Amino acid sequence: MRNLCVCLHTYVYMKKIYFDNSATTKIDPRVFKAMTPYLKDEYGNPGSIHSFGQTALAAVDEAREKIAKFFSCSNQEIIFTGCATESNNLAILGTVNYFLEQNKKVHIITLAIEHPSVLEVFKALKKKGQVEVDFAPVDANGIVKLEPLKNLIKENTVLVSIMYANNEVGSIQPIEQIGEIVKKERVKRGEKGLAIRFHVDAVQAINCLDCNVDKLGADFLGFSGHKIYAPKGVGALYIRRGIKIEPLCYGGHYEYNLRPGTLNVAAIVGLGKAIELIGEEKEADIEKLKKIKNKLIAEISKIDNIRFNGNADQQLPSLINVSFYKAEGESILMTLDMLGIAISTGSACSSGSLEPSHVLTAMGIKPEWSHGSIRISLGRFNSEDEVEYFISKLKFVVSKLRAMAP
Ligand code: PLP
Repeated sequence: MRNLCVCLHTYVYMKKIYFDNSATTKIDPRVFKAMTPYLKDEYGNPGSIHSFGQTALAAVDEAREKIAKFFSCSNQEIIFTGCATESNNLAILGTVNYFLEQNKKVHIITLAIEHPSVLEVFKALKKKGQVEVDFAPVDANGIVKLEPLKNLIKENTVLVSIMYANNEVGSIQPIEQIGEIVKKERVKRGEKGLAIRFHVDAVQAINCLDCNVDKLGADFLGFSGHKIYAPKGVGALYIRRGIKIEPLCYGGHYEYNLRPGTLNVAAIVGLGKAIELIGEEKEADIEKLKKIKNKLIAEISKIDNIRFNGNADQQLPSLINVSFYKAEGESILMTLDMLGIAISTGSACSSGSLEPSHVLTAMGIKPEWSHGSIRISLGRFNSEDEVEYFISKLKFVVSKLRAMAP
């Protein structure tokens, strides 16, 4: 009984730290407040012509306008989806299917370190043998090598898909430069040549990086609500005006016939509010994230036998990926979890496989280091005060695991 009391006492008073904001974020209370009426009283279907429907439609339109303003595009270029995985699939498969319908033999390029919502689509297309597929390499910091990328582009390349910032190591890709490469190829082909499009998975970038689609040269740009303090189950895709794609689903007039299905009004309102808040608070958020990150890096650097993955100058201010020699990332994650701290691991061990992370492998990081990698991802609701507690627990856990290592 006494033990149980001690356990409960520890549980009730245990400090909780959430350093896994790249996996998902807490809903901002201001976002939640904006959504609430559409979960309760304003329940109309935006497809209905009566006033209930029109109220819902007005809310969707307002959210679309906020998002379009953020990306410096027009309202008609924003399509609401259920998540970024769907946005990415719509951009890639929508493009490929459009060209296949015209019996064109096409080629597409992506990056070796993409999120599975892009990488697996490319792999599936390659397996089916319907299109030619190439995976561009990255350097030791997880940044695309531009010359090899340029050399991969062929006469029939119709899509280049590159993530803005990597979800495991936070490396930021030179999107503007890639946009320029694609633009040059387009100009070279001329009016009569095959169209070439540039898709950007911006999921991890929205909170911190410039997302002006014209500046980036993006033709498609996808993102997700639950990484930006909005709810899960909502995402969006920017599609440049005039670009034609095949829809993935059929069955309704919603979203310019590209994404049928009744709109998730409350979540879309939340997405609009979340984007508006980023527009207003991005600079302050980044300053805060940098301070926390620098403090963490300074403290983690004091631990023996570690290596940071990715170069801090070309990395999101919200993310640290660090490897501990002779301490398994999975074990660090699970032990920290017991102490109330949430982080994630860079390895794929969470899926039950002992394969090292495809991202770290593409960066040339040896398995003895990649198996010991963890990702610390910060967000708006973290504070500098959390660093000391986190570091003390991390040091304790790493030294215990190392002592137990064979
Ligand atoms: N792309 C990147 C870079 C991501 O980090 C994620 C999620 O972690 C996704 C796509 C998929 O997002 P969603 O969970 O909204 O499908």
